[in-house]
Amino acid sequence: MKKLKQSIMVMVWAAALLGLVGCTVNPATGRKQLALISTQQEIDMGKNSAPEFEAQFDGKLPDAVLQAYVQEVGAKIAAAADREMPYEFALLAGDVPNAFAIPGGKVYVTAGLMRYMTNERQLAAVLGHEVGHVCALHIISGIQRDMGFQILIEAAGYVGGSSAYSSAAKVALGLVDLKFSRSQEYQADQLGIRYMTRANYNPYGMVELLDILLAMHDKEPSKLAAMFQTHPLTSQRIEEAQAIITNEHPQANPAEPDPNADRMKQMVLRLPPPSKTNN
Ligand SMILES: [Zn+2]
Repeated sequence: MKKLKQSIMVMVWAAALLGLVGCTVNPATGRKQLALISTQQEIDMGKNSAPEFEAQFDGKLPDAVLQAYVQEVGAKIAAAADREMPYEFALLAGDVPNAFAIPGGKVYVTAGLMRYMTNERQLAAVLGHEVGHVCALHIISGIQRDMGFQILIEAAGYVGGSSAYSSAAKVALGLVDLKFSRSQEYQADQLGIRYMTRANYNPYGMVELLDILLAMHDKEPSKLAAMFQTHPLTSQRIEEAQAIITNEHPQANPAEPDPNADRMKQMVLRLPPPSKTNN
């Protein structure tokens, strides 16, 4: 294991010498870290892997009103984010509850997850959490960790041509199972709270959503298994989110009703019924 780690580091530094990677400042933390690929390459990788990735969750839901709604809430979060990206937000038709970000700022939530939401600030929390993963560079480092440096530089287009496209398709399948560590989850929650409050959402939407998901998971663990695999959720994560809000937004009130709760309820009613095979 140590040897493998060493050889990866040798490859990273060899790539650095060739000018393939450099140093960058993590936009979310302000700390310097190794940049494995450029922002433009990350955007290209996202474009190439998006069709294959979306197909894993039955594609985008064909409802212009629902898509516009997710895009509208997403645009407010994107405007508040620490990292400039051509963010795109979409609702996937899949019934398995989950949310994702893939390289280049493409952010997704499934119909299966939206069904659980009772107001708009909970959607802002989900999208904020995913944008947090984008801003803190968790996705690119996760691809490198799980799939290796080789596929990362291929999918980023260093090799060029059709090989970049087929590597990006492989990355798309890997992204379905990309797991974040608990510390990355805390950080994404913290950033999500930062962005949703900048966008004038009550940060308690984050706690509400995590509470709903944890309660559903206790009742029916299999239904939320995939989401809990990729985004670990424990009662400690809820306590951390609560502590961040108490410290950073002491004026926020959990009892304050969400002014857009009715809008979300109407959107949830528009969702097609879950397919019987998954539920
Ligand atoms: Zn996460």
